[in-house]
Amino acid sequence: MITANTIEVKVQKISKSRINELDFEHLTFGKIFSDHLFVVDYNNNQWGNAQQLPYGPVPMSPSTSALHYGQAIFEGMKAYKNDKGEVSLFRPFDNNKRINISADRMCMPGIPKEYFIEGLKQLVHMDKDWVPTADGASLYLRPFIIGTDEFIGVKPSDTYKFYIITSPGGAYYNKPVKVLVETNFIRAVEGGVGFVKASGNYGRSLYPTKLAQQRGYDQIIWTDARNHRYLEESGTMNLMFVIDDVLITAPLGDTILAGITRDSVLTLARDWKVKVQERKISIDEVIDAHKNGTLQEAFGTGTAATIAHISTIGFEGKDYVLPGIEGQMFSQRVAKELEDIRKGRAEDIHNWMYKIA
Ligand SMILES: *Cc1c(COP(=O)(O)O)cnc(C)c1O
Repeated sequence: MITANTIEVKVQKISKSRINELDFEHLTFGKIFSDHLFVVDYNNNQWGNAQQLPYGPVPMSPSTSALHYGQAIFEGMKAYKNDKGEVSLFRPFDNNKRINISADRMCMPGIPKEYFIEGLKQLVHMDKDWVPTADGASLYLRPFIIGTDEFIGVKPSDTYKFYIITSPGGAYYNKPVKVLVETNFIRAVEGGVGFVKASGNYGRSLYPTKLAQQRGYDQIIWTDARNHRYLEESGTMNLMFVIDDVLITAPLGDTILAGITRDSVLTLARDWKVKVQERKISIDEVIDAHKNGTLQEAFGTGTAATIAHISTIGFEGKDYVLPGIEGQMFSQRVAKELEDIRKGRAEDIHNWMYKIA
């Protein structure tokens, strides 16, 4: 039994670490999980019974409410090891805030920071050998909350579990992506749940994405639900354009997920006196800019890849090819700065790194 700042965590250690099975040279995303998980229960209107347990299957009744009605929300974040071997999380308090916004919208209890932050800290501390050191590599962290009532009536669950599982990942290969502007299916609509990380948002995106992939694209650009003119997000990333030296991205609202990478990129841009506009941007404007040669860059931002360069935008049967990657680009500069901050090579003026081990 160890006592954290404010919570007590029961610890059951794995009898033999599985880390020797891990090939650090060839890490794939999201398939291998570190030795331990963190779990807290919600019962009688409060969180308690925090435990660190060996990672493994969890027993669950087939009537568990999350499986039927989707009270399931998650976060995606990473732990990085810097050049000195110190392990830090990137802006974890922002993920805590965001999961609680998701929780409100999905009629679920939020998770207090004692559990969210302490859980991450203690779990990553215990499994710190699983944090890869190579450039671009990290330990992916997946906190999530699910409704656990054994009841198939449609109502908010009375009981929940908050889990954290972690998975080591290699440097994300930032292959430029071909994206298709989606004008039939929708991801999000005003009054909906596009702004929350709710599981159902991802399930619903698979079919349209599969159709786009069958046509040779990697990802979809989601457009507004009413007119399919305004460009909202790309896959599970926020979407940005550089047109005539101005960085443009959709404003936050019901239909946009408030990406922490998005906010970090905008913050650095403002630091660097790059002109930033958070406003609606239509496909017509992007095509015009492409025609008159002012469309300089398009990219997605998110925790998984940080920056995903867009090489081609498909719209109404036509492919618009963007300029290739070169070092002077804003997206390349910002990707490097974020990596440097994470590796302790650039000054962390915004205090984004939260050292835990
Ligand atoms: C998670 C997510 C993002 C990116 O958020 P980050 O905090 O930057 O990882 C963007 N769009 C959607 C739909 C997402 O689920």
